[in-house]
Amino acid sequence: MGQLHIVFLPMIAHGHMIPMLDMAKLFTSRGLKTTIIATPAFAASVKRARESGHDIGLTIVQFPPKGSSLSDNIMSFDQITTPALLPKFVEALSLLQEPVEKLLQELNPNCLLSDMFFPWTVDSAAKFGIPRLVFGGTNCFSQCISEQMHLHKPFKNISADSEPFVVPDLPDKLTFTRTQVAPFVLEEGTKNEFSKLREEMRESEKRSYGVVFNSCYELESAYADHYKKVLGRRAWHIGPLFLCNKAGAEEKAQRGKESDIKEQECLAWLDSKRPNSVVYVCFGSMASFTPAQLRETAIGLEASGQDFIWVVRKGKNVGENEDWMPQGYEDRIKGKGLIVRGWAPQVMILDHPAIGGFVTHCGWNSTLEGICAGVPMVTWPVFAEQFYNEKLVTEVLRTGVCVGNKKWQMGPSEGVPREAVTKAVERIMVGEETSEIRSRAKYYKEMARKAVEEGGSSYNSLNALIDELSSYRPPAPEIQAVN
Ligand code: UDP
Repeated sequence: MGQLHIVFLPMIAHGHMIPMLDMAKLFTSRGLKTTIIATPAFAASVKRARESGHDIGLTIVQFPPKGSSLSDNIMSFDQITTPALLPKFVEALSLLQEPVEKLLQELNPNCLLSDMFFPWTVDSAAKFGIPRLVFGGTNCFSQCISEQMHLHKPFKNISADSEPFVVPDLPDKLTFTRTQVAPFVLEEGTKNEFSKLREEMRESEKRSYGVVFNSCYELESAYADHYKKVLGRRAWHIGPLFLCNKAGAEEKAQRGKESDIKEQECLAWLDSKRPNSVVYVCFGSMASFTPAQLRETAIGLEASGQDFIWVVRKGKNVGENEDWMPQGYEDRIKGKGLIVRGWAPQVMILDHPAIGGFVTHCGWNSTLEGICAGVPMVTWPVFAEQFYNEKLVTEVLRTGVCVGNKKWQMGPSEGVPREAVTKAVERIMVGEETSEIRSRAKYYKEMARKAVEEGGSSYNSLNALIDELSSYRPPAPEIQAVN
């Protein structure tokens, strides 16, 4: 077989697109031909990668697609802010099937690597006799929890939403409350639109060739083994993907979107600080908070006495004004606290020696970036599988402490008092446990870096995957017995 050609179909969400682009860069650097099918809103980051010298093909597919009832200004998952929009969005994702299949016909690849949000791609790939690999944007740990939740439904027969229950059959004893579990998991089997999609995703994953994880074996070895041996799935750990490519400073500063703070301004601010003295606070591309919560966070951070960079998303969680901000706040924190409104160069910031801690919503990319920066974390999950990721950080790796949020919430989140923010930040920055947590964090940082080096576990795992894809033969069609 000649050069392998992999087509990537990313989900239209920054948390999924960023690692998939990293993956395309990695595959290209290993000599494979790669093409990304992107919607217009997400094409810019692929174009930037091409301009920085990555030889990745780009093909555009319109979104919302023809026939969709979604309004034209919805271009990305983070714009789905009300449950009412969700069914239309889910329908729009499925309407991509026809245009994507047309593109596959033209591109004629050897493999389709598509996001879990496109369950129909398993059938599309089968039509063209090629394997479909799944990418879910998350880790194997949370997939194992999700699967055991689905199989055992341990949240049933629990008398109160706040009563803890253990998820059975996992390598560790992990405890949750119903409030921390997504409604579409609790309501599985009902007419909930998202529950139906989740069922299709689960079924599609089982029929796919396998799953690739943006993680490395060493970070979740017991769960990687569980996934294969107990759940019987095929998987390759090939990350942390963002470490695989030697990105230049500009590329690092502009992951996903262009930053709303100048790289030099941010670096100069950090350069003026002592090592490990600044806490970085950011909640990813989708989470939002009520004005009351933003206010509590502001006061809690200030009271911790620590220097901080805090990324506050524009628009959705800030509203048109900044009434949430305590009077005179920015004057009081001048020199100590830097508020970035919008998008920050997260990987660049986390990489700086002045950063000593990370308050994170536990999106998997952010969690992984925090692990690879070797910094203690305050976990503040909000929705998606973030409450699962919190357990990996606080109970398995033990490189972070919980802020104490217990409520899964897709809309604006609230409920964490200022005292909890102060206490958690102090625990990771100056508390008694700090040095132990920090030394564990450094240990995992080294481990993750080694995994992607030549000869490391992720490096070898990708070699094995490429070898398998090179010798792939489509299964023979089943012959029906004739009576
Ligand atoms: N990110 C960033 N700047 C920001 C916010 C987020 O660079 O101001 C990046 C972050 O580094 C990560 C991704 O966006 O790679 C967010 O993905 P994650 O899985 O953490 O969370 P999600 O946005 O999917 O909730």
